[in-house]
Amino acid sequence: MPYQSTFPPINIPEDLDLWSLLFQDQKRDFPVSQVILTCAETEQSYTWRDIRDASLKFGQGLQTNWGWKRGDVLAFYTPNSIDTPILTLGALWAGATISPANPLYTPEELFFQLRDSNAKALVTQPAYLPTAISAARKASLPLNRIILLGPKQPTSSFPEFTHFTSLFSSHSSLKPLLTPQSDIAFLVYSSGTTGLPKGVSLTHTNMVSNLLQAASTEGLQWPSSSSIQLGILPFFHIFGLTCSVLLSIYSGWRLIVLQRFDLQKALQAIQRYKITFAYVPPPVILAFGKDPLVDQYDLSSLKCLHSGAAPLTKELTLAVWDRLKVPVKQGFGLSETSAVVCCQMIHEWKEFMGSVGKIMPNMEAKIVDEDGKEVKEGESGELWLKGPNVFKGYFKNPEKTKEAFSEDGFFKTGDVFKRDKEGNFYCVDRLKELIKYNGYPVPPAELEGILIGHKDVADACVIGIEDKTLATEVPRAYVVLRNGIKGDETKAQELINLVATKVAPHKKLRGGIRFVDQVPKSPSGKVLRRLMRDQAKKEDRST
Ligand code: AMP
Repeated sequence: MPYQSTFPPINIPEDLDLWSLLFQDQKRDFPVSQVILTCAETEQSYTWRDIRDASLKFGQGLQTNWGWKRGDVLAFYTPNSIDTPILTLGALWAGATISPANPLYTPEELFFQLRDSNAKALVTQPAYLPTAISAARKASLPLNRIILLGPKQPTSSFPEFTHFTSLFSSHSSLKPLLTPQSDIAFLVYSSGTTGLPKGVSLTHTNMVSNLLQAASTEGLQWPSSSSIQLGILPFFHIFGLTCSVLLSIYSGWRLIVLQRFDLQKALQAIQRYKITFAYVPPPVILAFGKDPLVDQYDLSSLKCLHSGAAPLTKELTLAVWDRLKVPVKQGFGLSETSAVVCCQMIHEWKEFMGSVGKIMPNMEAKIVDEDGKEVKEGESGELWLKGPNVFKGYFKNPEKTKEAFSEDGFFKTGDVFKRDKEGNFYCVDRLKELIKYNGYPVPPAELEGILIGHKDVADACVIGIEDKTLATEVPRAYVVLRNGIKGDETKAQELINLVATKVAPHKKLRGGIRFVDQVPKSPSGKVLRRLMRDQAKKEDRST
């Protein structure tokens, strides 16, 4: 029998879209003047009312000026900013689908997402324009559909966000009627269990569900009147989007927004704004536990750090506790589950250290063996999930969608889990090929494609290697060269450089290259990555 959530079930309205949940919910326990978004650099802030009103204007502007239609895709290519939530929610009001991309993507990577998502417009910032223009041209996205954030550019011919909202303030139009269960709110990109990045279609109901699930568990721990969150998770990733941006607006928390993670700026922000909690990936926990800079700041306001996106060791949890007396708890989630699947409560961090917590209300889970049969409690197997927050499928990809679900409708996560008798889940391994560098996804297939495209390479396999000093995995390539080609340091460097020129920085081959005679494969030609990973562990132990 599948495990049922141990949290009480909650009511999830099926006819509610995301904008309506956030801005028409009568149950709000904080005033409309509550400050929600503050930019750590400029100190500019938006209240809940500002976000609601500006997003409405932007949505109306899109509709009346650009004839925006339900399902049209607005892409984002920008680091964190207090303006992006407004544009995101405004576009959702107008029935748009949002597709956020990593601002460090190369033109080729951005082009892939613009083309695959069929984006109609793109939001970016002046420093990112050259890449944005290059990708937009290639994707046949008209350049007058690039919206610029940030300070006004005197010579710019691009539509600017500030101009956009004021220009359309007098117009009013009707919010299109959405079908929240099928209209796609977000199209985030993930490689799933195998292959190249795919658009994960998250409906309004998926997102509304996950916000209500998280708010009724995690959210209850942080009162709106006194909770201040550090906003360093990238807003283009589902973890930051759901837990930082949307949960803050829903719950009335103040979010102090940093463009990206920078330890010194994060510490300054904690001291200055008396930040009370943060959602972070494990390398940030490492910094709080070990970096000497931490001693220079007063972090006494911090009540909790919550780690997610990648595995966290007990040693790091204890290093932070010993140094700062700040509890570190964990959660677990995926793009395909609108983010949150499991979440520890603060009182559980010590007793169940190493666990990622219990599954969210209204979710069911199975832990299964290779034949899809449930294993006994306490044994490990693949985690399968069902719930209102589980995605509908991969965008325009029925084949991969079918593969992702079991016959009885469970989503196969590709992660290896076990569960204890108290209902706590533990993430113990990964079956799928995905690598996570600092919490950012690295699809091995993408790097393998680049390597195999090199004239001297006959075959290649990329796996994740654990780097304990950085508290993250790093990608390493095992390469088979063509006959007669010498696998020396110069060749290795050439291939490392080749990859570095074609991908965003987090995908670089930081784990190096090893030359091998062959890549082990199953009779059906599937790369035996588990074997490669075991081999790599042995190699690294013996060096
Ligand atoms: P993404 O779709 O980028 O959010 O990546 C989801 C994947 O990140 C999961 O399938 C896991 O492999 C990994 N992940 C997320 N949270 C954790 C965690 N707390 N511990 C271990 N792995 C995690």
